[in-house]
Amino acid sequence: MALNPTDLFDIRSLLSEEERMIQDSVARFTDERVLPIIGDAFDQARFPKELIPEIAAMGLLGSSLPEKYGCANLNAVSYGLICQELERGDSGIRSFVSVQSSLCMYPIYAYGSEEQRLQYLPGMARGEIIGCFGLTEPHGGSDPANMKTVAKKDGGDWVINGAKMWITNGGVADIAIVWAQTDEGIQVSSSPRARRASPPRTCTAR
Ligand SMILES: Cc1cc2nc3c(=O)[nH]c(=O)nc-3n(C[C@H](O)[C@H](O)[C@H](O)COP(=O)(O)OP(=O)(O)OC[C@H]3O[C@@H](n4cnc5c(N)ncnc54)[C@H](O)[C@@H]3O)c2cc1C
Repeated sequence: MALNPTDLFDIRSLLSEEERMIQDSVARFTDERVLPIIGDAFDQARFPKELIPEIAAMGLLGSSLPEKYGCANLNAVSYGLICQELERGDSGIRSFVSVQSSLCMYPIYAYGSEEQRLQYLPGMARGEIIGCFGLTEPHGGSDPANMKTVAKKDGGDWVINGAKMWITNGGVADIAIVWAQTDEGIQVSSSPRARRASPPRTCTAR
């Protein structure tokens, strides 16, 4: 048997038929749609937003979440294959998909109310609502306990003060999952009024 240089341990032989189909279709997308344009997009310093509807139509956004929320309900192996194939084309495209899926859609699914799930997840699966995840701050990201962003309750609202940096999708997001210190310790909030950040990718919410 000829060795495949990109799969020396022949991992593919361990995959189910469905997992192989997913791997093949994302590989085709990467070859046909990402690789031909990604060099120019890099030179132009732009994110190829035109690919978002196709990525969504393939079921790649929130792919492991239930169909009830417009998602594909795939297993974790499939999600790994999706990310692996996208990463082969471009790390930014993979980041777009994994931040949307794991850092935004999953927390809404796991910790949000049913009302919030139904409000956000189907639109996020369709790529119509883009999410970002604001944890890292300008002074550092490895030590979240040292977070400087503060959220204070103001009647029925939260007022958040602070700065976030290196936020993937921050410049294009419609909703932000933001981490902040509160009187009860570090908490996370989702804000549909996330300010659209301009470069360098720093989101400051007031
Ligand atoms: C492409 C990209 C996308 C990103 N997207 C996001 C995003 O969507 N959302 C988000 O919140 N963040 C995002 N980040 C930020 C990322 O999570 C942080 O860069 C990361 O957490 C590290 O934080 P830092 O860069 O501030 O480094 P620092 O925390 O300042 O650390 C600097 C160096 O010191 C080392 N170090 C730190 N503490 C210790 C210690 N106690 N002992 C030994 N060594 C230590 C670290 O390993 C590192 O090498 C992104 C970063 C990149 C590069």
